[in-house]
Amino acid sequence: MLELRNVSKWFGGLPALQDVSFRIPRGQVTALIGPNGAGKSTLINCISGVDNAQAGSIRLARRPVEALPAHDIAALGVARTFQNLKLFGRLTVLDNVLTGLTVAAERSFIISMLRLPGLRHEERQLRLRALDALDDFGLSRKAQWPASALSYGEKKRVEMARAFVSDPRLVLLDEPVAGLNADETARIARHIRRQRGAGHTMLLVEHDMALVMDVADQVVVLDSGRCIACGDPADVRSNPLVLEAYLGR
Ligand code: ADP
Ligand code: MG
Repeated sequence: MLELRNVSKWFGGLPALQDVSFRIPRGQVTALIGPNGAGKSTLINCISGVDNAQAGSIRLARRPVEALPAHDIAALGVARTFQNLKLFGRLTVLDNVLTGLTVAAERSFIISMLRLPGLRHEERQLRLRALDALDDFGLSRKAQWPASALSYGEKKRVEMARAFVSDPRLVLLDEPVAGLNADETARIARHIRRQRGAGHTMLLVEHDMALVMDVADQVVVLDSGRCIACGDPADVRSNPLVLEAYLGR
């Protein structure tokens, strides 16, 4: 689904990503792990077009996307969540999820939708779809609440509903269980397993190794911007380079 080749990114002369290469197979969960500051969020930003890699290539289903802006990448079917939540606090939960449909749709389509009179029907369809997504994440009861009134764990789930509502080709999840208690973590893990069962392709940035071992088909390890290991979860976990990166040198 996605192929990264020698992706590099610098911030003010300091390398954040150095020659990162790996593939994300269709229908699988690829976990991206590594210590804080390893470059995981930067990589998600480069894939989603929030930021641009300065070298290397990124191909989505063989199509080069490394130079495209975020809205074009979203329209090609890449959805994401943010490590630091990015919800519209004053909008309702439902409207937040609807934004996941509007960014994913062809812009021309949405613009024409907004201009045309008498689109009650289409609007209803979009709302029903957003409600379905909220239902998938156990939140339909709070669809009309302002997003700001939800708990942190619920907000994390709204972000996931917003990412999955458009039935994207690739979903990038940046630390979906960070800061959650055991019950909330188990709940999100269930959602991720279910989305995986439904055939979604995901890149999961996560520190929770139990979750990674549970859901990942492949694990990629970043350390100081470099990919130091990639492969089967059990092999990666016992890789001496990975142990060193995690346990200190
Ligand atoms: P991770 O998500 O693995 O914790 P990040 O991708 O957030 O790591 O950060 C990787 C490196 O890039 C860190 O050294 C971080 O300080 C740096 N960095 C990230 N974003 C910026 C930015 N916008 N400006 C300058 N440095 C940044
Ligand atoms: Mg991060």
